[in-house]
Amino acid sequence: MRLFLNNRKVSLNVREFSEFQLGPSNSDYSQTELWRSELGQTWHNKIKAKTIIEHSNASFEVPINGTWLQKDWSVFIQGRIDQVIYGSDSVTIREIKTINATLPLPEDELLSRFHSYFLQLATYLVLADINNSFRDMILHGELLFIDITEESSQSIIIGPDFKGYFLKKMEVLYSFLEQRWLSIQRLRRLNYIPPFSSLRLGQEHTREMLDIASNQSKVIFFEAPTGFGKTGSALEFALGRLHDGHYDRIVFLTSKSTGQIQVIRQIESMLSIDGGLQYFQLRNKIEHAKDCNLSHCNNGRGCRYKLNEQWEKAGITPILLFENGTISLSKIKELGDNYQVCPYEISRAAF
Ligand code: SF4
Repeated sequence: MRLFLNNRKVSLNVREFSEFQLGPSNSDYSQTELWRSELGQTWHNKIKAKTIIEHSNASFEVPINGTWLQKDWSVFIQGRIDQVIYGSDSVTIREIKTINATLPLPEDELLSRFHSYFLQLATYLVLADINNSFRDMILHGELLFIDITEESSQSIIIGPDFKGYFLKKMEVLYSFLEQRWLSIQRLRRLNYIPPFSSLRLGQEHTREMLDIASNQSKVIFFEAPTGFGKTGSALEFALGRLHDGHYDRIVFLTSKSTGQIQVIRQIESMLSIDGGLQYFQLRNKIEHAKDCNLSHCNNGRGCRYKLNEQWEKAGITPILLFENGTISLSKIKELGDNYQVCPYEISRAAF
């Protein structure tokens, strides 16, 4: 996804749009393996050969794009339709999805387990609806599920009512875009107390060198002895760049969790009243798990159980959780407890 916040524009592909969400995801991307995508491609080729025999005028891997206006945001979406099958006055947009589930399954179960696939197809239908190439054609959408283990298939036809899913997702994206917009506005009025009331020996030179180095390279190494004021110098430099719009955010990594304490102390000393500076300390899993009461939790395993559903019910919006520039761990734990959402996942989303 590419954001052009100043112009209130965003560009993304159909898959990104269909999988977009504000909170955590239930998907386990770590399981996407090469053999799996190769098998998917084999099935795509098999179905393509079959479609060519049945519909000689069908097209494959058809690129499509369009701009959707969501209030005052322009959302450019692009993708590739697996198959486009033409009838006399209608056109069927077919998406092929290889899954690992015994078919047939009830339609509502498919919808809940593979919601993003339905959304992808709905998005293609919306794009086709605003595309001149499909003008005056009646649009049909078909999801063709293939079970890769038993090699069975199931076809689901979706109609115009699926536009509702598209619009709902667009509202989620809109809410994210508005949050990003507000963040940019906040950064423009970013104000902070300088870390040093008077500069010590070498600090002024460091400032100049950091400025010069950052104009020459994306990566800068900065080394100085203990007690020099490295944390303050680095933060002051990075905050200046954040304010000027060169950086989107600052991520401060420490080798141990105890190392976070000094950084947080430094940041807190630089906070000015309503200076727009927000910071978040991402604690480790052990600190989150301490006194965690989630009933389904099994020492860190199974903590993602129904995570997405619970998150949606809770309606948690991370940016709204900030109070006095940050979000406390106790607040995150309280939220997790109240809504049965893993506190560590709330922290990750806030981050
Ligand atoms: S629910 Fe989350 S915070 Fe609680 S123990 Fe499990 S992983 Fe840790």
